[in-house]
This record gives sequence, C-alpha cells and structure tokens, in this order.
Amino acid sequence: MNKEQALSKFKELEEKLSHYRSILALVQWDMETGAPKQGVPYMASAMGSLSTEVFRIMTSEEMGECLQVLTEETNKAEWDLRTSASLREAKRSYEQSKKIPEKLYSEFVVLTANAQSIWAEAKKTDNYSLYEPTLQRIIEINREFTQCYGYHEHPYDALLDLYEPGYTVGVLDPLFSNLKDRTLSLLKRIQASLNKPREDIFGQGFDKQKQKEFCYHLLPKLGFNLEAGVLGESAHPFATGISLRDVRITTRYIDDVRSSVLSVIHETGHALYEQGIDPELEGTFLRDGASMGIHESQSRFLENMVGRSREFWTSLYPDLQKTFLGELQQVSLEDFYRSLNIVEPSLIRTEADELTYNLHIMIRYELEKAMIQGDINAKDLPEIWNSKMREYLGVVPPTNAEGVLQDIHWSFGEFGYFPSYTLGNLYSAQIYHVIQQQIPEFHQLLTQGNLLPIREWLREQIHQYGKTYTPGELIEKISGEKLNADYLIQYFEEKFSKVYQIEPAK
Ligand code: ZN
Repeated sequence: MNKEQALSKFKELEEKLSHYRSILALVQWDMETGAPKQGVPYMASAMGSLSTEVFRIMTSEEMGECLQVLTEETNKAEWDLRTSASLREAKRSYEQSKKIPEKLYSEFVVLTANAQSIWAEAKKTDNYSLYEPTLQRIIEINREFTQCYGYHEHPYDALLDLYEPGYTVGVLDPLFSNLKDRTLSLLKRIQASLNKPREDIFGQGFDKQKQKEFCYHLLPKLGFNLEAGVLGESAHPFATGISLRDVRITTRYIDDVRSSVLSVIHETGHALYEQGIDPELEGTFLRDGASMGIHESQSRFLENMVGRSREFWTSLYPDLQKTFLGELQQVSLEDFYRSLNIVEPSLIRTEADELTYNLHIMIRYELEKAMIQGDINAKDLPEIWNSKMREYLGVVPPTNAEGVLQDIHWSFGEFGYFPSYTLGNLYSAQIYHVIQQQIPEFHQLLTQGNLLPIREWLREQIHQYGKTYTPGELIEKISGEKLNADYLIQYFEEKFSKVYQIEPAK
C-alpha cells in the first residue's frame, strides 16, 4: 500500500466507524428514553453485534497497515494538524485494543455484563457478600490489563490514560492532596458559620409540567441550538452526540426544581461542546471532546460557575418566580441563590454539593489505586470505604447500599474513570480564571442574561477543536500553564465565604 492509498483507505474506515458510532449512540438514547422495557434485551444484543463489528474494524489488518504506512517517520512530517491528530487517536485505540488478549477480553465482557445485575441485587438487598467475588475478579482482570497496557511508574497510570491521556498518579496525587486539605479547612469554617442559607425552599413539591416549561425557556438562553438538539427525559440525566447537528440531552423531573434545572444546565454544557465542534471534523476520530475531564469541565463550568451564580439568576429569577408564584413569590433572590449553594457533607456522590463532591471522588481514587496496586481486595472494601468516609466527609454510611455499593461504575469494569470528574472541576476553575481576564464584562453579561459572547469564547478556545489536542495540550493552550488546583480552591474560597458569610482563608 502506498501513502495515497493508505490515506484514502484510512479515511474510508474512519468514516465508516463514525457512522457506526452514531447508530450506536442513537440506539443507546432510545433505550434510555423511550424504548419499551421488553424491547431492550433484543436491541442490547443488536448493539453488541455492532460494537463487535466496530472493534473488528478498529483492530483489523487493514487498519494496522494504514497506520503503519501513515505514521512512518518519513510520512509523519507531511500531515496537517488534523490528520496527524486523527492518526494519533486511531493509533492509540488500535494499540490499546491489540494489547489485550482476546480470551481475557471475552471473560471481561461476560463478567461485567453479569456484574451489573449482581450489583443491582446486592445493592437492593444490602448484601455486599453477594457482589464480592464478582468485584474481586473485575479487580484482578483490571490488574492484568495494566500489565498488558504497560506503565512507567504506577500500574494505575495505565488505566488513567484510557480516560485522561497523559495524566498519571504522579500528576494527580499533589493536585488532589492540595485540594483535599484546602477543602477540609473551608468545610470546617462553613460548618461553624452562624449564618446558614435557608433549607426549606426546595422541598415544596414543584409542579413537573411547569418545571418542563421552564427548562425549555432556559435552553435557548444558555445557547443550546434546538434545531440541532433535543431535550428528553431519563432516570439519569445524560448528553449524547449522535452527530454534530443532532446533540441530545435529558433531564428528570422530581419534586425539587433544582434537580431538573441544574441537570439541564449541566447537560447543556456538554451539548454546547458537541454543537460547537468544527463541522469539518464530522465523520472523523476527532468528533469528540478532548477527554472525559475536558468534557466534564464544560458541563461543570456552565452548571457551577454560571448556573449557580447570583448574576445568572439576577436575570432569570423573575421568570422562575413567575412560573412558581406560590412557591417562590416570597423568596428573595439572595435567599434563592444562597440555598442553591448549600454545603452539607452527605453519603451519596451524585447528590453531593459542589464543594464536598470532590471528596467523594478522592475516596474512590484512593481505593482504586490501592486495589490496582494489589494492596487491598474486594473483601476489605466496606471497612476501608467507611473509614475514608469518616476521614474525608465526617459521615459514615449506615448500610453498604448507601456506601461502597452506591455506584455502578465498577460493575462496568471501569477503573480510572472517577478522577475525570474532579479533573473536570479543576479545569473548569482554571478556564473560569482565564475567561474573566479575557472578557472583563463576564459578570455583567451574566446579569444581563446574555450568554452568547461566553459561548463564543468557549467555542473559539475549546469546542471547535474537538479531540485535536490532548487535554494537557489544550489546558496549556487556553491558560498558558499546566493544570493547577489553586484556581478551584480560590473560586471555592471566594464563593462560599460570601454564601456563608465567613472570613476567607488568608
Ligand atoms: Zn457530566
């Protein structure tokens, strides 16, 4: 195969894989939002067939040959930024898939497929020992994976690299320990505050139809393009890009209006990213976020720095009040804003507030590192989980269902994924710092309800590139420095010292 033939074959495979990926995303969306319950198993197996086909093409001899020709030293220099980034991504997936022996991978697929229902049963009946042998095998296979992938310093690095390329234990440990110490110090001052926000505002049983109307009112204001996107409903809110012109998000409507509104803002953050990717990248390996963490930075930025700010609600709160006259007429903007930012250590990660959320992630990070290194096993988990909860959050779960069994991720076999959430928060604060310098009227724009210049800035700096840059390259390109925990700490100090009327740390 010569260079020209290899390039044209590569582009053909790339486009085919992208088409398959769109179809998989669409079926996944359908299964979570509308498919009748009895139809799910058949479509799940149909998805299995298509996923296998994707894997087969990705690891095919043809793909291998193309990559070999196109990434030869003599050819490398010729490629433009996009082609070389596409080749980088393809090579990464190709090599990762090739490193895992087929037999081990098949065992892993069957094990994790069964693990999800075993986990669900164990959680429902609060019976950890039912789940323990399965989890133990998942841990062991992940340990074997790290040997297959290879690593330089810590075996966990091999797994981190799957979600956040370039990040290692050596990078995360100092970031997380700095964040932990400063968070605990701030938390202590918050808990001692004598001026706490009201806690009665959101427990009033907000009408679901009205919540829905308000969410649709919100979408265009956030910059979501409704002609290239859809809002649906699902038990767990999510965002998915079917294509660049078809980006779908969900929310859920429960009694508490915070849940639907903040989920819509969060998922819109993901959606703006997908809708903002350069159309030229459609059908390529670059039609995606730079990493899990960078994607999450966009949702957290919109949810926390925008959607939980006083300025944002200055323009929108009158509309929310009009929608919920009975519930909110007597609630001032200030009380509403402060309640939106209540900090309270709690048991469940997904319901945690903005500040204590990262402590939940750090617990999982510490445990995963130790499991992968072989220092702890599944049988040790409940006890260590509870002692870490006491150390980090000062609360201890009364049951394993509310403790070690609360998240589904380990049943998927996913290790190395949780840190991306905190990385997302760290990136978002660093981006927040830069955007305020580059758009000095940032807060005025929020007060006016004019988010378009902010969306354009994010598009220009981040969204348009898709996966062209690695996460490390991208954050340096935006901010001129590596990821640094000080920005998130500073943001927390400023915000919560106002919300709780306490002295900020010196
Ligand atoms: Zn998210």
